[in-house]
Parts: sequence; C-alpha cells; structure tokens
Amino acid sequence: FSALRREDPEIAEVVLGELERQRGGLQLIASENFTSPAVLAALGSTLTNKYAEGYPGRRYYGGCAEVDRAEELGIERARELFGADHANLQPHSGASANMAAYAALVQPGDTVLAMDLPHGGHLTHGSKVNFSGKWFHTIGYRVRSDTELIDYDEVRDLARAHRPALIICGATAYPRLIDFKAFRDVADEVGAYLMVDAAHFIGLVAGRAVPSPVPYADVVSCTTHKVLRGPRGGMILCREDLAARIDKAVFPFTQGGPLMHAVAAKAVALREASLPGFRTYAQQVVRNCQALAAGLAAEGMRPVSGGTDTHLALIDLRDAGVSGRDAEARCDRARITLNKNAIPFDPEKPTTASGMRVGTPSVTTQGMREGEMRQIAGLVAAAVRADPGTIAGAGVLRDVAAEVGELVRRFPAYPGAEV
Ligand code: PLP
Repeated sequence: FSALRREDPEIAEVVLGELERQRGGLQLIASENFTSPAVLAALGSTLTNKYAEGYPGRRYYGGCAEVDRAEELGIERARELFGADHANLQPHSGASANMAAYAALVQPGDTVLAMDLPHGGHLTHGSKVNFSGKWFHTIGYRVRSDTELIDYDEVRDLARAHRPALIICGATAYPRLIDFKAFRDVADEVGAYLMVDAAHFIGLVAGRAVPSPVPYADVVSCTTHKVLRGPRGGMILCREDLAARIDKAVFPFTQGGPLMHAVAAKAVALREASLPGFRTYAQQVVRNCQALAAGLAAEGMRPVSGGTDTHLALIDLRDAGVSGRDAEARCDRARITLNKNAIPFDPEKPTTASGMRVGTPSVTTQGMREGEMRQIAGLVAAAVRADPGTIAGAGVLRDVAAEVGELVRRFPAYPGAEV
C-alpha cells in the first residue's frame, strides 16, 4: 500500500476511504462479504501479470507452470468440497459463468424456463435487457401469491406446455430453500437440462448449512464472492460428461485469458471454506438472518414468505409506508448499507420497489451473533421510519449512525489493517 500511496495518492485515498466505509458501517447487502487477508493477498499478487489462455497443461502461452499449479489446486479443492466431477474456476463473474453454461447447454432461440425477475430471478435468467432474454425464448415461473414460495405446480405446467431445453433454478432474492429434486423431476419429464444458479447460496452449501444442488443439477453455476467469501468471480461445477463442453464454453467461446490472480484467490477461498470453522460461520449466517428477519417482523416489517432459511431476507415495507428506494437512502445516511428490492407481485416500479433485501454474511464474518441481530433490526427499523426531511427524523438518523459506529467498533472488519 505504501507504493500505491506514493505513486497514486488519489487512488490510495479511494482505497482507504472504502476500507473506512466498509468497516465504519453495517454491511447488510446479501451478496457482499469481507474476504480474508489471504484472499486479498492472492488477488494483489503478480499472478495478474500472467497470460494463461487454455487450461492447466494445455495453455496457449509459455511460463504457465506456477499458475497451472494454482488452477489445479483450485479445481481439486472445488471438486472435493462440493463432490462435483468437474470444476471450472475461470469465469470472470457470475454472469460470465451463466453465459458459458447457456453456451454449453443450449442454442440461441431455444426455450429456457427460469424464475421471473420480479419474483427473485437474476438478470441472466431471461431479462429482456440481458443476452439471456435477447437470445433465448425465456418463460418465467413465479412464487405463489399465498405462500410466496416457488409455485412448483406452475413450474411443471409451464415445462409441459413449453418443453424448454433448459430449466434454471436459483435466485437473487429468494429467502427459502429450493426443492432441487422437484426441479430435477420436471427436467427429466420434459427432457430438459437442469442448471442451478447457486451464486447466492454456494457458500452455505460449502458450509453444509443448506442442501447441495450438485447431485441434482447437470450444471451448477455460481459466484465466489458472496457467502463463499472469496474474490469477486464465477465458477461452474458439472458432471464429467459435460466437462469438455463447459470448459470450451468458458474458453474460447465466451472469454479469453483467465484472471490468474483471481483463480488463485478462489483456490485460497475454497481451502478456507473446507476448514471446520467455515461450517460454524455458514450456520451462524443462517441463524443470524433468521434472528434479523424475526426482529424486523417484530418491528412491523414483514419478511416475504414469513422468514428465511438462508443468508437473506426480503422485507415487505408496505405496512411501514416507506418505499424500498427511501428505505435504502435513509439507511445509507445511518451508515447501514442494504438494497431496495422488488417483492413478489410488487405494485411499484423496480427503481422504487416495495421492499428491501437484507443479508448477514458480512456481519457474521465480523463475529456478530443473534443478540447483535436483534439490535440491528431495531436500528434498521428506526432508520427506515425516520424521514430525513424532518428535524426529528434527521436526528434519529444521526443517533442510529452513532449507535452503528459503536457496534461495528466492537466487531472490527480487518482489525489492525491499514488497508
Ligand atoms: N446469478 C445470481 C443468482 C446472482 O444473484 C448474481 C449476482 O448477484 C449473478 C448470477 C451474477 O453475478 P455477477 O454479479 O458476479 O456477474
């Protein structure tokens, strides 16, 4: 960091400012985490200098012996941790992993059945502004209006009616466990591939806090930077018979040279995730989220589907009379970072939204437990209700920010680190 400070003080200031922002407030974005110093060290290493198109032992460049070792270790660790035949660690992101999975399994114009975006699906599951919605004929399934759980009857009916080539499950804002066997049965009935996008919960799978999709899916795509706590990036797991197609779909079809510093950092994170402490962490992430959701419910802020089985909760703010957009902005002023989110059957536009999404990976990594979650629920509820346009509301936001500051000082992220 001293080199950065000397060479480029402006960027050094940004890096320090972001460190202070991250550890000076509460990070409740469900898809974020504090990755370890070891992961950061691999990311900031000279491996970023190396071109390594291809795969270990089959590169298009010389000098790959060291990076081959990093990728081999990462692949082996992923296979072992998830019990998968094959792993590809090269996708630059979750979206890149999904694009490669589509490329391996389907042809443009094919029909794909995936979760509707307003019901929790991701952009890459068929949004019209994404390649998936432009190049494929996507049909969306939803949650039931009474239970707010995936409507498996609708999944089966839509699959029978549209005969998709690919079915996708896994979501961005679905707080409950997914019945992978039910999806497998539907896929088998209509002759479709089943892809599980485990971006959000693969870390919970690694920590054995939720069931694994690996035995049911043809392909599992994911990110490595959410609950899994690795570097920003993607990963694909699959059966042996699809391995060559997946590898070719990542490189050379959708990507060029892999980011070897990120691949090495993924290997580090996968090792960390195989240690016993990671199971304790993953289970605590879920317990914390359940405590946070219950605390918000007690404040009159209803968790969609009544609660959570995972690291995230989706909160319906309509009874509080506050939009998701205002809740996000108010919390931001109180040093609480979370995001607005559409809720199922949301009457508002996505940019306004009737809900907010909260998640517990970051606060759990900091060492917080259920007691702190109850305190956080009170702080979030107070911030959401505080109208910053009034003197009283602005005062509440200042008080909440001060209490947040005290709380995070007791659970410092990166203790002792300058950067
Ligand atoms: N899939 C799901 C379910 C996600 O939630 C996300 C990101 O939030 C992605 C894919 C895409 O990941 P990335 O942002 O790394 O492209």
